[in-house]
Amino acid sequence: MANAAESSPGTVAYDPGFARDVFSRVKTADRVYLCMQCGVCSGSCPLTPLFPDFSPRVFIYLTQTGNLGELRRRAHLIDKCLGCYTCSQRCPRDVNPAEVVEALSHVVPKYFPEAVNKHEAAITQEYVDQIIGTGRLNLARLHVMSLLKTGRFLELLAPAEAKQGFKQFITGRMFKLMQLGSPRAWRSGLKGALTQIKERRAKEVAAA
Ligand code: SF4
Ligand code: SF4
Repeated sequence: MANAAESSPGTVAYDPGFARDVFSRVKTADRVYLCMQCGVCSGSCPLTPLFPDFSPRVFIYLTQTGNLGELRRRAHLIDKCLGCYTCSQRCPRDVNPAEVVEALSHVVPKYFPEAVNKHEAAITQEYVDQIIGTGRLNLARLHVMSLLKTGRFLELLAPAEAKQGFKQFITGRMFKLMQLGSPRAWRSGLKGALTQIKERRAKEVAAA
């Protein structure tokens, strides 16, 4: 089995195992080979006009042919898929290109780890954690956590970020955004703990 690393300069890296790996993650895998490269999916995709190299039609073709060289060049774009399924809705052959792109996004880090944008990967992970964990998306938390998880916490101290953060801290909104409870709940919790300590001390003194 040839792979990108083994190919000679000027030849196309070809790996049929790549297609098996991707399509084994697609529920409608038996339909992928019905793709007729008509381009309706790419013509409907909202990302293609923004990123000409992002094309569900081309991703399917490159996966089917195992063209790892070209896939590597486009690998950094695959995670940009919005999951809107417009391509799948419009595909005349029910190929479900959205699922192929989704499957590619899982396989790409394995084959091309250098192409993974760590910040985007952290955003995606935080997004999934929030939706699964709370059923809601907290954009401020998404932003802060993605910076923290990729070691970019110093960016939170940039003047614009720091000003916004200070404003939200003063108004108590930051506690809510970061799901830390409310300052009032913190105050009453602290008050309760102090009362308990005082009562315990009083009992100890009385018993002595
Ligand atoms: S996935 Fe569907 S819409 Fe896209 S090129 Fe293939 S047949 Fe056409
Ligand atoms: S699901 Fe992804 S590939 Fe399909 S149209 Fe939406 S953004 Fe484009």
